[in-house]
Amino acid sequence: MTEIRKLDRETRASIAAGEVIRRPENVVTELVENAIDAGADRIEVAVDGDGTDRVSVTDDGRGIPAEAAPLALERHATSKIRDAEDLPRAETLGFRGEALPSVATAAGRLELTTNAGDDPEGVRVVADDGDRTVETAGHPPGTTVEVTDLFADRPARKKALASAATEFGRVSDAVTRYALANPDVRFRLAHDGRETFATPGTGYTDAVLGIYDRTVAARSTTFDHEATLTVDGAERPVRIDGLLAYPSVTRTRPSHVYTGVNGRGLVEETLRAAVVDGYGTLLPDGRYPVAAVSVSLPPALVDQNVHPAKRDVEFRDPAVVADAVESAVRDALATGDLRRSGDLAMDLEAALAPLSDDESAFADVDVLGQFRGLYLLCAAGDDLLVVDQHAAHERVNYERLRAAVGDVESRPVDPPETVTLSPAGAAAVEERAGALADLGFEVEPFGGATVRLTAAPAPLGRVADADAFRDAVDTLREGDDPEDVRDDLLKDLACHPSLKAGDELTDEEATQLVERLGACEQPYACPHGRPTVLSIDEETLVRGFERSHARLGE
Ligand code: ADP
Ligand code: MG
Repeated sequence: MTEIRKLDRETRASIAAGEVIRRPENVVTELVENAIDAGADRIEVAVDGDGTDRVSVTDDGRGIPAEAAPLALERHATSKIRDAEDLPRAETLGFRGEALPSVATAAGRLELTTNAGDDPEGVRVVADDGDRTVETAGHPPGTTVEVTDLFADRPARKKALASAATEFGRVSDAVTRYALANPDVRFRLAHDGRETFATPGTGYTDAVLGIYDRTVAARSTTFDHEATLTVDGAERPVRIDGLLAYPSVTRTRPSHVYTGVNGRGLVEETLRAAVVDGYGTLLPDGRYPVAAVSVSLPPALVDQNVHPAKRDVEFRDPAVVADAVESAVRDALATGDLRRSGDLAMDLEAALAPLSDDESAFADVDVLGQFRGLYLLCAAGDDLLVVDQHAAHERVNYERLRAAVGDVESRPVDPPETVTLSPAGAAAVEERAGALADLGFEVEPFGGATVRLTAAPAPLGRVADADAFRDAVDTLREGDDPEDVRDDLLKDLACHPSLKAGDELTDEEATQLVERLGACEQPYACPHGRPTVLSIDEETLVRGFERSHARLGE
């Protein structure tokens, strides 16, 4: 790291268009990146209201020498690169020298207070509506940047913002991304003076414990994987590490798969997809894992200079990196038990063809028996049907629920269950309490991101549980079209009270379930799109047993 200097014209020309501050989240991201670049071990983020009121980020990094501090607010002034030649080598998250001046311009006031550690006193630089002042000020080694009245002079930007809860949810997601991409740094996020989460800087498991809860942290494994990538003919080292929740902990959305590259928390689909692919058949269809995966690789293999807000990076060879991530995840999950259940699912899929729509319904189907508490074996004419009782029950429940919308019966959860959500989840609950109530969920705030679930939908005989509620909250956060959101919620609800693996059914129940399934509008798939019924036609058995076709003639 060198002193802060202005980049020359030529270098400026080779750098992608600068930071765009569209919402408080962008301010937080830039300030957190600066703190990470400063080598901080501890980063504290505080947000008031929707973030336009106040954002403050404090770090214990190396600070800025007093005489250089005013330069930090100048456009194209950076200590991170000297010229365009440094660009592909830069290991820092910033390099354009544009964030602080952009934020200062967008905000009513920006105060930078910093201490480079060699002086008992620090310095404060204030940018207030274009005026700059510099004064001495007390600050422990490190830096605090406080931004107030964001977009005070930009009514259009301010108007484009969502509610305080949603904007804070975005901030919270961003801090979560960086906390998981930097598990050895202590992070703390506060909203309106209340701590929403904190990580202790002691690795992935503790970070996930701080952000999620004990259930996720306890049912997970960490991994650390080194590999060599061949890119453009050269061999390069890559390190892939992180935390993977077991396949028994799943979510309805992929947003709980966090990925980072060289300390940057990404919003990016390639790596996320690679992580999900690494789980492969261990995940039920339509379900996603909870995971935090970081990739560290030489700066030459990744171009950070593509996205103005740097939420994305461009790999020199994305396929090679994705493959490495996928196999690192697969290897990490390849413990005996997990692997075996995965193989089983694959074999079944390969051996049995799903029943298609134009074949008959189940009017004259005989249930022969139950297999392993999971499947119903049925005779249907010349075919042997295998019904996935859980998937079948989901379909039946879903169609019943869909018919009952607007009139979903709710039952008290007694005693109420406390549920700890992610901060963004808590924001969604506050925002969309009405939509949750329509579906039969009633909650009370219980401090921070914790709520008490006092009533839950019970149209199916069994009361939906805290997991169903968690899934509903996730769906609320991410659906756009209210109709879609409602449909997704119904699907999730239908799933939760449904028969679980190992549930014993009486003959009568089994027959009923198959009959009900046959009466469904779409009996051949569960609401998430997995098949409910597989059929083995007699032809398959004939071939399998190496019999000739003429059965009677043998
Ligand atoms: P960039 O990060 O692209 O260099 P910024 O405008 O974000 O540009 O910051 C300008 C300069 O101010 C940085 O290069 C760095 O030297 C200094 N700086 C900013 N924030 C911090 C911080 N939290 N700790 C130490 N130095 C900082
Ligand atoms: Mg920066």
